[in-house]
Amino acid sequence: MSRKTKFSKIAKERINYLFELAQKDPEVANSAVRLARKISLKYNVPFSKDKKLFFCKKCGIYLIPGKNSQFRINRGSVVVSCECGGLARFKFK
Ligand SMILES: [Zn+2]
Repeated sequence: MSRKTKFSKIAKERINYLFELAQKDPEVANSAVRLARKISLKYNVPFSKDKKLFFCKKCGIYLIPGKNSQFRINRGSVVVSCECGGLARFKFK
């Protein structure tokens, strides 16, 4: 295993862990996803689709539907709007 794949494997595990933490504990959710974002950028590990849905690219907070964000379905895509005004669109099959 090369150095790079080894690091990206660890990075993926840490990102998964941080998102789990964010789901369980709303108090640390925002700092957890910010850290996850940093790791993802540093090690060039993209967030998976299910993670992107719950993360605001604009202000970097963890999105909780009905609390700080709205999830709507519009013409075959999910539109996620954050309280900061950030919008994200996801196509689904
Ligand atoms: Zn936002």
